[in-house]
Amino acid sequence: MATVQDDIIYFADDPEPSAPEQTAVWHVLLVDDDPDVHQATTLTLRNLVFEGRRLAFSHALSSAEAQQILRGDIRFAVAIVDVVMESGTAGLELVRYIREQLRDTALRIILRTGQPGYAPEMSTIQNYDINDYRTKSELNQTRLFTSLTMAIRSHAQIRQLELGRSGLEIILESTRRLGRPEGLNQFASGLLTQLCALLGVDCDSLVCAAVHPDTRQPYVMAAAGRYRDWLGLPLEKLPNETVRTSLQESLKQREHRLDSILSLYFAGVDNQALAAYVNIEQPLDSIQRGLLEVFCSNMSVAFENLQLYLDIETLAYQDALVGLPNRNALLLALSHRPDSDKVLALVDLDNFADINNILDENFGDSVLKAVAARLRACFPSDTLVARLASNLYGLYGPASQVSPDSIEAQFAEPFALEGDQMLRLSATTGLARPTGQSGPELLKNAGAALKQAKRQARGKALFFSTEQSHAARNRVHTLQMLRRALSEQHLQLHYQPFIRLKDRRPVGAECLLRWRTPDGQFIAPDVFIPIAEQSGLMLAIGEWVLRTALNWRASLQDRVSDCFRVAVNVSQVQFAEPDFVERLLCILQETGVPGHQLELELTESVAIENFDRLKSKLEQIQARGIEIAMDDFGTGYSSLSVLQQLSPNRLKIDRSFVSGDEHNDSFAMAETIIAMARYLELKTIAEGIETEEQCAAMQAAGCQDGQGYLFSRPLPEADFLKWLTAHNGG
Ligand code: C2E
Ligand code: MG
Ligand code: MG
Repeated sequence: MATVQDDIIYFADDPEPSAPEQTAVWHVLLVDDDPDVHQATTLTLRNLVFEGRRLAFSHALSSAEAQQILRGDIRFAVAIVDVVMESGTAGLELVRYIREQLRDTALRIILRTGQPGYAPEMSTIQNYDINDYRTKSELNQTRLFTSLTMAIRSHAQIRQLELGRSGLEIILESTRRLGRPEGLNQFASGLLTQLCALLGVDCDSLVCAAVHPDTRQPYVMAAAGRYRDWLGLPLEKLPNETVRTSLQESLKQREHRLDSILSLYFAGVDNQALAAYVNIEQPLDSIQRGLLEVFCSNMSVAFENLQLYLDIETLAYQDALVGLPNRNALLLALSHRPDSDKVLALVDLDNFADINNILDENFGDSVLKAVAARLRACFPSDTLVARLASNLYGLYGPASQVSPDSIEAQFAEPFALEGDQMLRLSATTGLARPTGQSGPELLKNAGAALKQAKRQARGKALFFSTEQSHAARNRVHTLQMLRRALSEQHLQLHYQPFIRLKDRRPVGAECLLRWRTPDGQFIAPDVFIPIAEQSGLMLAIGEWVLRTALNWRASLQDRVSDCFRVAVNVSQVQFAEPDFVERLLCILQETGVPGHQLELELTESVAIENFDRLKSKLEQIQARGIEIAMDDFGTGYSSLSVLQQLSPNRLKIDRSFVSGDEHNDSFAMAETIIAMARYLELKTIAEGIETEEQCAAMQAAGCQDGQGYLFSRPLPEADFLKWLTAHNGG
């Protein structure tokens, strides 16, 4: 073994088995205007190893050239600088440049000079922290080794101190940064980056493994540089044995390895854990170990906090039943101004209420899960698939993926439910494209398209159109006006008589709502009632109608017989109110009208309500003598079953069956209804009688009462009184 001076210097071709890997070097900058000096120095030092590393030389022939090299990326350990070069003090100027301009305090400087007369002042040597000052003749090989060894040692110490200082800064910064939760994957890759910075190693030597929360199997959660391809691999499949076993050991033993192999362990909550492997070239020194301990304990805390945060986030942004993101998550995605090439779709499962009511809720849940799973599986991951409400799903993604066709295709095949059942489902969808509006507006547009689709094209997907937005705006305007009309008493009731067909005497009247706008126009109830129903305003309007109708009936007391009935239309939204019966009876009492003088006209839509609740409401109403008439009877497809549920007192045959003649089917339908009513002992009235023929036909078929233009149009209160006087004989 060719040891020179002491055991820190070896010849590199030394066959010692402990010879270090020659990847790390000390960079040495030679600055001298004499090329021979460069050559001689390099020859002398070329194959020597200092503190485990060889030297790598950079050469500058002038102070200016040296400054340029020093501005580059190489971190030099030592500069051997000639004092006299382009000027007598060029070397000293270089020294000043290094310390004052570059503020490099770790670089060790050995000054050499051929001319002893140019020796710098003692104060310069101290002020500029010069390691050694020698004349060229003094610097023989041995002296150069010694001098260089001392310089490299002190450089290494200064570097470690610096590392310690900046390491603490890095730890603080990492804690701050990684404490800001952005997801486990970002945490893991952030951890690697921060570790690199802390240890001053290349970023391509790191792998981070985590225990998978579902499979409990460890896998690669983050990897950098040459290990990047390992991302996502199960730990047991890693091709490099050292990396694999050291990560496995750390996870199993729940501890760090800080020897020649570095693998770190971070415990999280709920048995989750991370392990990071770092490819280091030499064992860590005590400062690095100390820093790592602090780093790891800080990161473990950050890791735990992150997991807790993610759990909370899961609760806030995920639908618990189907595991998809929820409405909050969609709103969050839409909170940035929506991308113009994206499309938002709201997908509403048809007839879900029936599925839930007729079958049970567990079955309903399995339907919701099956739809969620299919939507998630069939749309690529850049489409957000969310569940927004009971049977409403949201899709937000590129227009190339989210389209009417792609959505309708999802419902072409039946869905496989738990227990091997297959079920065909359909959905109605509203879509909207962003055109510069905000996220919530986009959601509103898609909602408007969905409403439209539900009205016009069940089972289909429709795009939002601007006409629709105008229609929506009109509806809002109408609603505002209607609210004002109610409070300013611009609503009126018109009355249309019911006629007993056999003697043509008035036996009652239907109250029909009229809206008179400030310019004197009448707006038909078919136009404004649906708007009032959608907004909830119908409840207030309905009460007003009831009270007005009953007051009117009370005012007729002396002009009509006791059994003259006033018929009031009741909308399904009114009837569905839990306290509908209470309010009705209250108004009845308030106006002093006996129950048998009131008739409520209901349509089949009220049968949507839960059967027991419906039955009990009707019983309470009928117990007061109030009669129930089924309005527009025959138009609903489920009329017979509804009849059984509602057990009304009277059927009102829809005018579409009355306007027929003896030879067509619709008239035959009226006859059938009347026959059926007779069988069920229900009373009948035909609405929309316009001609004597229709009147005669209805009478011949056995219908008791009639209503229609033949007898009278709906009339304002005063006109009705005149009509009554003329037709009542009184
Ligand atoms: P409805 O209850 O079926 O009322 C009968 C409708 O037929 C009335 O239309 C009436 O004017 C019309 N009509 C009566 N005789 C004839 C006829 O011979 N020929 C023709 N072609 N039509 C006739 P109106 O007043 O426009 O009411 C339409 C609908 O608005 C009503 O249908 C009812 O469903 C609803 N409605 C009216 N007032 C109220 C109300 O106060 N509350 C509720 N909830 N709905 C109401
Ligand atoms: Mg009616
Ligand atoms: Mg009707």
